Amino acid sequence: MKSSQALIPTQKEAPNDAQIISHQLMIRAGLISKLASGLYSYLPMGLKILQKIEKIIREEMNNSNAQEVLMPITQPAKLWKESGRWDEYGAELLRFNDRHNREFCLGPTHEEVITNLASQYINSYKQLPMNFYQIQTKFRDEVRPRFGVMRSREFIMKDAYSFHLDKDSMRVEFEKMHATYCRIFERLGLNYRPVLADSGSIGGESSIEFHVLAESGEDDICFSDESDYAVNIEKVAFSKQVKTNDASASEEKVLTKNITSIEDVAQFLKVEQKQCVKILIIKTTNGYKALALRGDHALNEIKTQNLFGNFEFASDKEIKSLDLKKGFIGVKDLSINLIVDYSAEVMVDFICGANHWDHHLTGVNWDGIKFEAVDLRNAIEGDASPDGKGKLVIKRGIEVGHIFQLGDKYSKAMNANVIGESGKAMMMIMGCYGIGVTRVVAAIIEQNYDNRGIIFPVNVAPFSVVIVPINYNKSTRVKGLADVLYQQCLDSDIEVLLDDRKERAGIMFADSDLLGIPHRIVLSDTHADNGNVEYKARNNPEKLEIKFDNALAFIQSKLI
Ligand code: ATP
Ligand code: MG
Repeated sequence: MKSSQALIPTQKEAPNDAQIISHQLMIRAGLISKLASGLYSYLPMGLKILQKIEKIIREEMNNSNAQEVLMPITQPAKLWKESGRWDEYGAELLRFNDRHNREFCLGPTHEEVITNLASQYINSYKQLPMNFYQIQTKFRDEVRPRFGVMRSREFIMKDAYSFHLDKDSMRVEFEKMHATYCRIFERLGLNYRPVLADSGSIGGESSIEFHVLAESGEDDICFSDESDYAVNIEKVAFSKQVKTNDASASEEKVLTKNITSIEDVAQFLKVEQKQCVKILIIKTTNGYKALALRGDHALNEIKTQNLFGNFEFASDKEIKSLDLKKGFIGVKDLSINLIVDYSAEVMVDFICGANHWDHHLTGVNWDGIKFEAVDLRNAIEGDASPDGKGKLVIKRGIEVGHIFQLGDKYSKAMNANVIGESGKAMMMIMGCYGIGVTRVVAAIIEQNYDNRGIIFPVNVAPFSVVIVPINYNKSTRVKGLADVLYQQCLDSDIEVLLDDRKERAGIMFADSDLLGIPHRIVLSDTHADNGNVEYKARNNPEKLEIKFDNALAFIQSKLI
């Protein structure tokens, strides 16, 4: 393709709302264009990249015997009512009525539709197992769409759903998909880690997320520094601990006028935050509860939800109505249930609110206090790894894929059964497997850029080679050579961009670097005097002079 005929609207500046590098570079390189919050058009270069990623995913899914289908984005509410998710799924599900006043939603995921499809066409155990996938647009009305295509409202997902006669068969497919995903992310050149995760609203038993390691990631991933333990922070489970110290202090009530936060209390009393206990008040369907955590720990809301169901933090007004003094709440003489995190349970001689305005207690111990101890907190860096090997390191990750062992959650609710070998009806067992295809584009960029722009791996780059002729429109010699090399590349099926614009060399270099084209050939009269061209790889500052006659063979050798 020639630059003069291509729409590659590069720009110097990134828009104000682009906070992370991939969003900035995707706009600046002219890959995407914003239509509205969380809605993006893919411009020609962006689409080329997307299609290359889709091709790799398709090849690997097909090689793993998954069959491609394509389901509608518009889904009847009836199916979501059958599965129970019409009520469970929150405001992310965009619902609407058609002209006949029938209810529909835009698919955020396709468990319902595929289960309905499978129950129509799979009737006998002999047809199982089967795995179906599609690469298709999803809609989720995200609360905070952000970071460009990383968290958008409309995005492309590769979703796959497998059907089995029993759990063993599902586990075999789960392992196979695990391996398939590893091959996909390896081919995409990503530095990624599979991590154990929470199943969220999709449900089911066991799930693994695939995270691309990058500072801009929205998830915290915990790794052991000694073993292959890797888990989403949401899922790090801690067990009950054994007290290692004995109480030695006696309790004292100290004046802490207007000092309410753990940070300020610790500073004021010249102790570490981990010597303080903090109390959070939550409202559950079962009444209010006081949660006690070590001062430097944070509440894990998923664990809390798993323990107490849907909950909210109590408002100031509610705290007051419980006769509690916000900022000075302690563990003694509470009128509501006290739930204590395992790590707070082993604390001795600690500091907490005095349940009196402007006072805290020091030298507090648990003796005589009624409470229930549970696992409530998030992991922090340096925690002992729960597998007993090494310490936890926390890194940011971008979730690009998620695989689930669903079991019979959907088949049971939607009555998807087959006739088993014995002639009896049996519920199908399912697995499901997703890759955020558009998010992958952003993730690749987050791991491959420099101050000049994107550095695409060759198998996803919009072009493999760019030819930059200096004075293409003035020097007939340069034009002649550039046209010959361009045609040679085309004839050899090399994806080549010829920058035939009347632009300064600096601008042409800046554009091809911004777009991340892996290989660049520069042609000029000076080089031509020696029968040479100049070669430079995007990821290497070194420039090489090579013979014009060898240029094609040289490029080909770089593309193997
Ligand atoms: P997240 O925790 O990031 O919201 P999720 O758990 O809701 O993700 P899944 O339901 O497992 O995601 O969807 C499968 C994949 O789709 C995710 O692994 C992710 O790569 C991608 N994805 C999910 N939501 C979005 C979004 N709003 N924009 C772009 N990609 C998304
Ligand atoms: Mg989500």
